[in-house]
Amino acid sequence: MARTPRLSSKFVFITGGVVSSLGKGVTIASLGILLKLRGLKVNVIKLDPYLNVDPGTMSPYQHGEVYVTDDGAETDLDLGHYERFLDISTSRLSNATTGQIYDAVIRRERAGDYLGATVQVIPHITDEIKRRISELARAEKNTDIVLVEVGGTVGDIESLPFLEAIRQFALDVGRRNSVFVHLTLLPWVGKAGELKTKPTQHSVMRLREIGIQPDILVCRNDQGIPKDARAKIGLFCNVRPEDVIDARDMDSVYEVPLEYERQRLADNVLDKLGLKARSKDLEPLERLVETIRGLKGEVEVAVCGKYVRLADAYKSISEALYHAGFELGRKVRIRWVDSEKVTAENAAETFAGVGGILIPGGFGERGIEGKIQAARHAREQGIPFFGICLGMQVLVIEYARHVCGLKNANSSEFSARLRHPVVDLMQDQRGVKVKGATMRLGAWPCVLKTGSRAHKAYRKEVIQERHRHRYEVNNRYRDALAAGGLILSGLSPDEHLVEMVEVGGHPWYVGCQFHPELKSRVMRPHPLFRDFVRACMRQA
Ligand code: GLN
Repeated sequence: MARTPRLSSKFVFITGGVVSSLGKGVTIASLGILLKLRGLKVNVIKLDPYLNVDPGTMSPYQHGEVYVTDDGAETDLDLGHYERFLDISTSRLSNATTGQIYDAVIRRERAGDYLGATVQVIPHITDEIKRRISELARAEKNTDIVLVEVGGTVGDIESLPFLEAIRQFALDVGRRNSVFVHLTLLPWVGKAGELKTKPTQHSVMRLREIGIQPDILVCRNDQGIPKDARAKIGLFCNVRPEDVIDARDMDSVYEVPLEYERQRLADNVLDKLGLKARSKDLEPLERLVETIRGLKGEVEVAVCGKYVRLADAYKSISEALYHAGFELGRKVRIRWVDSEKVTAENAAETFAGVGGILIPGGFGERGIEGKIQAARHAREQGIPFFGICLGMQVLVIEYARHVCGLKNANSSEFSARLRHPVVDLMQDQRGVKVKGATMRLGAWPCVLKTGSRAHKAYRKEVIQERHRHRYEVNNRYRDALAAGGLILSGLSPDEHLVEMVEVGGHPWYVGCQFHPELKSRVMRPHPLFRDFVRACMRQA
């Protein structure tokens, strides 16, 4: 077994029990910001137990959105929570899946690196998991604390190697350098009029069976934990009552950090790690909560896509809209519109009363004609419009068809034989057969046209934004589109790729090939979202 090298950082391991979807990502992001506001440098890694190498090949209905990092990794959406709350940029080192771990081990075995050994889950898989945690810890200088989130629920077969790996890791770095936080659920049984602690006890038992004694329990519940229940959880789970955090449902996730602060979560973690805060300034968090509570009035924005049944499929989009609303003092309400249902006949009714329409990214033909109708309606009725990635491609198709007179213009993603493929496969995507991690991914520069809306929003000429696509505006149609009045407002520095377009003489009608929502931060909204929401407010 490989020993973990000496590391200067300390570690907080977060596991989840009882049920999934308890909000581990938000818990970690909240603890992270409390530590950051104490002057500590925090980094974070999410360990995902599924066998996919990354979530890039999964349906959003399986997994929610795919979050793309600057360095082009397709990762878990929890990285979005971390980036938005902590205002950091993560990298591919911040997400490891079972698929990646096995892939690395099997490659090594094929290369003959294990020198005749039988390759096994313990120690080879667990060593690779530990290596990934150490790698992240060493990636940035002076990282004080690494937050390690283990995906899945304790008791799953899949997460066992990860739990075994963090148990060993804590032993390697020393118990004084590691803290185990376990997130559970306390269900309320109405008939008995009681908050039930048994599922939490069982979940902790499972953890203890594999050698992990949680130090802190974060217990989700809907109406608060009575004193006697807290004492009981402490007694049965072998923690002090003050190590039981009452994580009751809050009005908004942005209030969670201050609630944890009231319960001394961050100080408790620091005490256990033998660390001291360098400074402490919680003002930004207090200001944020005050801002959210003080929002006046609403602006409704339609988001028109095909995965609208699952809000997590567009998590970063909705967050980016809310962040813009925070800065502008207005609550953004989202009207989810299923693109498959939009037609020329019902567009007026479907979008009646909205301040603006946003079409997010997506893949495949389903719902495309509805999106084209939505873009047309917005353009013709002067409704602010924001097309992101596939949304921009839809904007271009609509403009080509109805303004430039290019009949049946479309994207070659949706039809092989097209007279006017105004959106086409990128040159370097031709011949790419493998689906995983082969799109144009990660941050790329883009040069903005002086005086364009894009330029006004960013207030700079060269920007860096994150991409995830295979198709682009077809350069053969640039002249026709420009002649029809479409402004090509952002180009790649070599001018080969159209990255932004807009329509003049309209309140706000902008498309971008990249995903600006991935760079919006809770306390630093994205300029394009800010200007879009401002236009929506004027419209409403
Ligand atoms: N399907 C389109 C492409 O591959 C758009 C991708 C997206 O919206 N992320 O180019």
